[in-house]
Amino acid sequence: MYKNKFIAAIILLFISGTAFSQNEDSVMIKKISDEILQNGTAYNNLRSLCKTIGQRLSGSPGMYKAEDWGVKVLTASGADKSYKQQCMVPHWVRGKKEVFNAAFNTKMKPFSILSLGNAAGTGSKGVTASVIEIKNFDELNKRKDEVKGKIVFYNYRYNKKLLGGGYGDAVRYRSSGASNAAKYGALAVIVRSVTAANDNNPHTGALRYNDSFPKIPAVAIGPNDADRLSNFLAKDKFRLPFNLFTHSQMLPDTIGHNIIGEIKGSEFPDEIITIGGHLDSWDPGEGAHDDGAGVVQSIEVLRVFKALGYTPKRTIRIVLFANEENGLRGGNKYMEEAKAKNEKHIMAMESDGGGETPKGFSCGMTEEQYAKVKSWKNLFSMFDADRFSFTKGGGGGADIGPLQAAFKTAQFGLNPAGNRYFDYHHAATDVFENVHERELHMGAVVMAAMVYLVDKYGL
Ligand SMILES: [Zn+2]
Repeated sequence: MYKNKFIAAIILLFISGTAFSQNEDSVMIKKISDEILQNGTAYNNLRSLCKTIGQRLSGSPGMYKAEDWGVKVLTASGADKSYKQQCMVPHWVRGKKEVFNAAFNTKMKPFSILSLGNAAGTGSKGVTASVIEIKNFDELNKRKDEVKGKIVFYNYRYNKKLLGGGYGDAVRYRSSGASNAAKYGALAVIVRSVTAANDNNPHTGALRYNDSFPKIPAVAIGPNDADRLSNFLAKDKFRLPFNLFTHSQMLPDTIGHNIIGEIKGSEFPDEIITIGGHLDSWDPGEGAHDDGAGVVQSIEVLRVFKALGYTPKRTIRIVLFANEENGLRGGNKYMEEAKAKNEKHIMAMESDGGGETPKGFSCGMTEEQYAKVKSWKNLFSMFDADRFSFTKGGGGGADIGPLQAAFKTAQFGLNPAGNRYFDYHHAATDVFENVHERELHMGAVVMAAMVYLVDKYGL
């Protein structure tokens, strides 16, 4: 079936003819695909990143181990040079396990929670107060007089009709819910986890405090426990008190690094193609989909070129970005250094949507550039990864965003199917076992294919 499809694609290309030598290109892309699917190291690299290091939040011991791992793996994968680029990163620590339970009944099962990233802790005294359930920010504003001295529970549900868009919609409560409630005198917030999953795992992630209001503690609650709490509150006429104990704190910034591996271009060494994912991860799981997958896929692009003896015309730079999750310091630092050195960045690609089956790319570039990219579309049909979307200007990913802002660098964001991504994202379930080898490797195939085309023809 797959083979027939491929032969049909070749015949079609031969008959129709195109502006580019697509016959030659489809042969090369098939070689890339065969090499990665047969001999790819991305899956094993992901295993070692997840199982020997695990979580690697900015400033944690895991982050430093992962940095050394990155240099080693890039070198072993054939980089001409691998190095660390220093940047300061935030250093937030979770502290000991959080507790949220009923103050009025010690027999009630405690709720499953996790502090949100960057959140202040309650300290050992904790917060004891009644809980007010709020469905959304409109309701918060309407009931602002009832919020003072309470714990606000945002029970905003993930819109399952929207897939990834459901995340963008619900994440507002995680990122700005604390300050919005603090404005009205709330003591702490509990946020329904931003996930489509039906389990009880809390999902952490960054919050941003508005400096005008007190920095109150904030936690995520597992989806099942969000329902249990909501059911209890609906029947509770006495507004009974609950205890919240969290121990997180923000320490002074510390040193971190982007990890970079390069192959020097043979014809246009000054033209740089950046391919990357972020090396940091949240702490409950192993950062397998987010973003170990993007890290090992990016490294695989470099490895496959070396393995096939393909020497790129332009300089290929693999960047394992620092601190995407709670600061974006790595992406900003990479752009600043590029600016200081007056580098020429023609293209940047990011994989930060998990390791599921690739479907295509988000293309953030000029209309002329996109017309060229679109002419390569049929080369991606054989992988069912020819869904290209276009945003004039930006729109490829967080870490490569600063490059776009500084140099108008063309952006490619890998788009995986994403059906399961937000089940695992920032939760204890984001582990190696939940990534599938072939799906992960297919992502690396289409990334390498696109990089090959841009390298060969320019943009
Ligand atoms: Zn990510």
